[in-house]
Amino acid sequence: AAKLQQLSVVEYEPGMDEQHMRRLRILQALPNAVTEQNLQLHYQPKIAAADGRVIGAEALLRWRDDGIGVVRPDEFIPLAEQTGEITPITAWVIQAALDQLQLWQEQGFDFVMAINLSAVNLQEPELVESIQQQLKRRHIDPSKVTFEVTESALMVEPELAIAKLAELRALGVKISIDDYGTGYSSLAQLKRLPVDELKIDRSFVQDLAISDIDLTIVASTLRLARDMGLTTVAEGVEDEQAWQLLRDKNCDVLQGFYFSRPLAAAQFDKWLKEYLR
Ligand code: C2E
Ligand code: CA
Ligand code: CA
Ligand code: CA
Repeated sequence: AAKLQQLSVVEYEPGMDEQHMRRLRILQALPNAVTEQNLQLHYQPKIAAADGRVIGAEALLRWRDDGIGVVRPDEFIPLAEQTGEITPITAWVIQAALDQLQLWQEQGFDFVMAINLSAVNLQEPELVESIQQQLKRRHIDPSKVTFEVTESALMVEPELAIAKLAELRALGVKISIDDYGTGYSSLAQLKRLPVDELKIDRSFVQDLAISDIDLTIVASTLRLARDMGLTTVAEGVEDEQAWQLLRDKNCDVLQGFYFSRPLAAAQFDKWLKEYLR
């Protein structure tokens, strides 16, 4: 059976073929993504639900390879996690995002920068030290940086992840649980996590205006998070109705296409100017 399984990986499968080839090409090109400077960060604004103020942005990675074209993060990050390439990629993301935060601060914007970490990053021995040095070097107030870790990433090696998050948090940075509601963490687990913020997954937010079930789930999650002293964020806000419902349910922060898609820094600055007018 093992032999058969092995065979089926390389065997020709109609339809699967193209996908398989693309995967191989991505794996091949990944090691050059950082060195060839084909990576770019886009930024999506985070909005205070109460008054519409821009409180910061989330950095979202974009990769454009000369041969393959645009590769979406959902496609290459899982592969980069498998090959270990996620380590230099994340190092690049952190320095690029902090550079941008510093720029915005110099322009007088009191912003928070949210940076995504993968489970693999939490196993790196130098992660915390390196982040500490970078914050220091740029004179960035650690409380202006949030690290987002998905709920499911925390399940990989919970003890190690919890210890690492606690270490990170001791620097003064904020920790956010991303995609909340899509994993299977229990309330008992949530209580043990050293986190400051809970980010409700967009699958619960998108249909808020038409789905009573989603509204119930979101409302009770918001109540729970607030009772635990966490800041609440809803992602995937695509229309004004969702915004109003979330504000009525006392969600703290909103993110979504309704406000803006993730934009390259120059476009973000343009959007900001327009938004602040
Ligand atoms: P995420 O962290 O949950 O990021 C939110 C995703 O939802 C982004 O997709 C964003 O473009 C999209 N989004 C935002 N607002 C809306 C909306 O209103 N409607 C809809 N339909 N989508 C919305 P993106 O940029 O393609 O990123 C996908 C995922 O890739 C991210 O999900 C995150 O898990 C991962 N990722 C992105 N950048 C990084 C990174 O630098 N490091 C790591 N480890 N993961 C990253
Ligand atoms: Ca995120
Ligand atoms: Ca998310
Ligand atoms: Ca996600």
